[in-house]
Amino acid sequence: MDFELSEDLRILQQTSRDFALNELAPGAIERDEKREYPTEVMRKLGPLGFMGILVPEQYGGAGLSTLAYCVVMEEIARWDASVALNMVAQNSLCLGHLMVASNEEQKRKFVMPLARGEKFGAWGLTEPGSGSDAAAMRTTARLDGDEWVLNGSKMFITQGNVAETCVILAATGRGEKKNPISAFIVEARKDGEATRGYTTRKIVNKLGMRASDTAEISMEDVRIPRDHLLGAEGQGFTDVLKVLDTGRIGIGALAVGIARGALEDSVKYAKEREQFGKPIGQFQAIQWILADMATQIDGARLLVHRAAFMKDKGETVSREAAEAKLFASETAMRAGVNAIQVLGGYGYTSEFHVERYMRDAKLLEIGEGTSQIQRIVISKHLLRQF
Ligand SMILES: Cc1cc2nc3c(=O)[nH]c(=O)nc-3n(C[C@H](O)[C@H](O)[C@H](O)COP(=O)(O)OP(=O)(O)OC[C@H]3O[C@@H](n4cnc5c(N)ncnc54)[C@H](O)[C@@H]3O)c2cc1C
Repeated sequence: MDFELSEDLRILQQTSRDFALNELAPGAIERDEKREYPTEVMRKLGPLGFMGILVPEQYGGAGLSTLAYCVVMEEIARWDASVALNMVAQNSLCLGHLMVASNEEQKRKFVMPLARGEKFGAWGLTEPGSGSDAAAMRTTARLDGDEWVLNGSKMFITQGNVAETCVILAATGRGEKKNPISAFIVEARKDGEATRGYTTRKIVNKLGMRASDTAEISMEDVRIPRDHLLGAEGQGFTDVLKVLDTGRIGIGALAVGIARGALEDSVKYAKEREQFGKPIGQFQAIQWILADMATQIDGARLLVHRAAFMKDKGETVSREAAEAKLFASETAMRAGVNAIQVLGGYGYTSEFHVERYMRDAKLLEIGEGTSQIQRIVISKHLLRQF
């Protein structure tokens, strides 16, 4: 077993680390305060290959592994988790579903501009009335001649207000008892004109991830061509589960990035801040906080990299991805809270990054399946095994 990253991955790590330090760190607090989607910053990710990391080069992507995706994600999230979350919407969710289910023509038309970062993408599964129980969705799609007609709404969709291409999940049942779900490619705008019946609303007042765009999407008789069905009719939810396996590994890596930021900032402060005539890092109470943070972060990264490694070998990773996401997101949340403790009153202010780390980390215990849902996934695997 080799715990070292390959030479190629180390170079990629250094490139993304330099980018995060030079381009993301300086404006991260300001972007959080502004609560706006950082279009300019996001445009810089395309040329680096970070908007289509897992997409093969022939379709405009970087053609890299899941492990490479995790390496980049950790570095970006180290300084700006909102930017990392926008990347997740593009890489794991929108492009993730397209790569699982699209045909050749769809790949050429929709995957290429997204993977190059020329267009932004989103993925609409969650609805106002269905989150954890996503299969209970109410958005419908029905065939009318050569077009699908979509009706319904989607909630909390990352990049939803800025996306030109959105993968939308909708029920395509025709009277059956079950709720068969299919995926569709919906263009929010076409030739500069907004798609009729497709509207979005910005959700601005969020605890964290404030420089990530979040939308409620409403669809009223939205007509899309018949060939915008993504994958087989009724196969949508099976594909969703595959998308989420990779997505959860990405969220795990994002969480490790936030947690590492919390640790690095805490260590720096503990060496500088003096109380009772010595640096607070010399108090055992502070040392133990730092030691626990470091141990949990290493554990989280190992789980994330294991899941990525297995995924790259073509293995099924539902349980491993759930474990990585669960442990890493809870580690990030704890690290954020503890970093504020180490920085004391200063940590409670936005003069420092750590209060933002905590606010951003909370989302990771909710999005792409809450911690409760991850525990359900893991225990289902356990009980099936024994
Ligand atoms: C900033 C942000 C970005 C997001 N981005 C996207 C996106 O791009 N695309 C998308 O489709 N969705 C997105 N989501 C939605 C996210 O995936 C959902 O919020 C999440 O799945 C939880 O659904 P819910 O909010 O409806 O909570 P609910 O499902 O209503 O859950 C409420 C509580 O009940 C618990 N609970 C529910 N069912 C069970 C159960 N069976 N057993 C035990 N506990 C249970 C949950 O764990 C939670 O604590 C985003 C959300 C946010 C906040």
